[in-house]
Amino acid sequence: MPRRAPLIKRTLILFGVVVPALAWALVKPVRVAVPTLNGVSCVEQVCVDQLDRLGEAQALYREGNEFIAERFGVDLMQPRVVFCSLPACAEGFGLGVRSAVTVGTVGTVIGPKAWKPYYMRHELIHQLQADKLGSVLLLLKPSWLLEGMAYALSDDPRPVLADPWQGYRAQFLAWYGQSGRDALWERADGVWLNER
Ligand SMILES: [Zn+2]
Repeated sequence: MPRRAPLIKRTLILFGVVVPALAWALVKPVRVAVPTLNGVSCVEQVCVDQLDRLGEAQALYREGNEFIAERFGVDLMQPRVVFCSLPACAEGFGLGVRSAVTVGTVGTVIGPKAWKPYYMRHELIHQLQADKLGSVLLLLKPSWLLEGMAYALSDDPRPVLADPWQGYRAQFLAWYGQSGRDALWERADGVWLNER
């Protein structure tokens, strides 16, 4: 009878091979990790499905990164962003009904209707959250904190958002107003799901 692989080895295989393979197959947004396999072209960290819109994508990317640096006082480390012009591209990354999606610090996919500065800023805030709080720990953070922050601090121009985003933004602003940007990440570190 063959010896069974030691537990540590089996665990490494599980998390090194099986889980990534499953995630790749089942969770399309993960494909932003290797966007060229999904038929887009990249220049540095900016990827497009329609090369004639590369300049527009680069301008949104530049403006978004400058905004983050100014608003939060930190630089994002060259975040990857895929800009989809066509529904087929958005479908390839599994956007579904979402306008855009960010996968931890791995990258962002901007859908055909989300080529707007405030969408870019919103998604880059999600990358910053993953960077500051940890991609996995984000799963344990309440939506009013993560989405509320992304809507509030991206200067989203819409005075009234659809539910539940409007409430999330209001709740975040009430929390943020107490001390603002200075202690933002330290305070956010201490906020967990099911806490108010
Ligand atoms: Zn969001």
